[in-house]
Amino acid sequence: MAFVERAAKGLLLTELISGMWLTLRYFFRPKVTLNYPYEKGPISPRFRGEHALRRYPNGEERCIACKLCEAICPALAITIEAEPRADGSRRTTRYDIDMTKCIYCGLCQEACPVDAIVEGPNFEFAAETREELFFNKAKLLANGDRWEYELAKAIEADAPYR
Ligand code: SF4
Ligand code: SF4
Repeated sequence: MAFVERAAKGLLLTELISGMWLTLRYFFRPKVTLNYPYEKGPISPRFRGEHALRRYPNGEERCIACKLCEAICPALAITIEAEPRADGSRRTTRYDIDMTKCIYCGLCQEACPVDAIVEGPNFEFAAETREELFFNKAKLLANGDRWEYELAKAIEADAPYR
């Protein structure tokens, strides 16, 4: 009986037709795939991507060199050196993050009292050499300048839950 059933299915091409019917049904449905990198999916305000150092609107660095981020980093990825300025304010002279060590835990961001070091929405910073992943202060500040709008929006969206 099983043989007759198999032979009938083969002759009538039922499996082929049901497969094509399934394809036809999905053909007209909204696509679940994205044409990356031209299309990108939504990202949570809590997404932990590439790091950035932010500035105040007047251009002054937010970071006050308290070193809390350096102390809390479980990967020992952050290195900070600081000196007081002529006006008495305390600012970093060196702020490095070894991104090859970073585990994207977000603790540096959590520890920062002035929202200076943040993890932004950028996840497209793959590099070909290790050296490119040793971020210094200039690179981090440039990231902050580039992503400030998105960073501010993400912090604002997450503020009620912090
Ligand atoms: S995200 Fe975590 S591992 Fe990476 S620099 Fe911040 S504290 Fe360190
Ligand atoms: S980034 Fe924030 S936590 Fe780290 S040293 Fe600067 S002010 Fe302190």
